[in-house]
Amino acid sequence: MTDRKDFKHLQLERLTPKEVREGGFDTAVLPVGATEYHGDHLPYCTDTLMAVALSERFAAEIGTALVLPPVAYGMSLHLIKWPWTMSVRPETLTAIVIDVAESLLAHGITRLLVVPAHDGNPGPIESAARELNDRHGLTVALFSGWQSLGRRLLAGRYDIDLDHGGSSEMSIVLYTAPDLARQQRAVDVPNQQMDHPVRVFGPFSNVVPHGYSGQPSKGSAEEGSAILDAIAAEAGTFLRELAANGWVNGSWMSGIARED
Ligand SMILES: [Zn+2]
Repeated sequence: MTDRKDFKHLQLERLTPKEVREGGFDTAVLPVGATEYHGDHLPYCTDTLMAVALSERFAAEIGTALVLPPVAYGMSLHLIKWPWTMSVRPETLTAIVIDVAESLLAHGITRLLVVPAHDGNPGPIESAARELNDRHGLTVALFSGWQSLGRRLLAGRYDIDLDHGGSSEMSIVLYTAPDLARQQRAVDVPNQQMDHPVRVFGPFSNVVPHGYSGQPSKGSAEEGSAILDAIAAEAGTFLRELAANGWVNGSWMSGIARED
């Protein structure tokens, strides 16, 4: 059994102002999940579990960051066909991120990392980030695409899939919330064609008629732990560099010296 790491001391919702004051926090991490059908082997909170688990690790890597309560509703209109999937409109999610960031600004917090764990969320969050920069000069950092990054980082050790409800999401739930995993019910639906060069937007049910795809029977808590550790290490290095550079983009990202 893999030990689950505990980051409760970094969750704003569990703290009182005293602990927040004493923690010296200057950065906020916002997990953005979803409430979504993933087949009978996974809970509706699967994406929220992943968004929180990643956010906790990123906050620990940064060292002075607090994890905000997660947004448990995502932009899931493309999955709305499946029972009890909940969705907010893209503009609603954009507005939530803007409102959270402006609340932080009211408290003098100008460092925000947003961590979605569902493919419908990055677009609306990017809109919010660009709007916030235009309005307030705020630099918002966004981490997305955990499956692709995990697949690259763990190549040769694990075969991380890109599926909705497949082995990688099964692994994350087995590791973060084993009591919510129902791997014994997993029926594999191998996805034979993924990672297309052009994105096509339409109902996901046209592509994946069962509501999920992949081989959830192959997931494991060990794989879930390895995904989280590998991504935290990779992103952590960059996030610390971002923090050291005042949490703004600049020539430190390109190595190109200014001429003015
Ligand atoms: Zn998911």
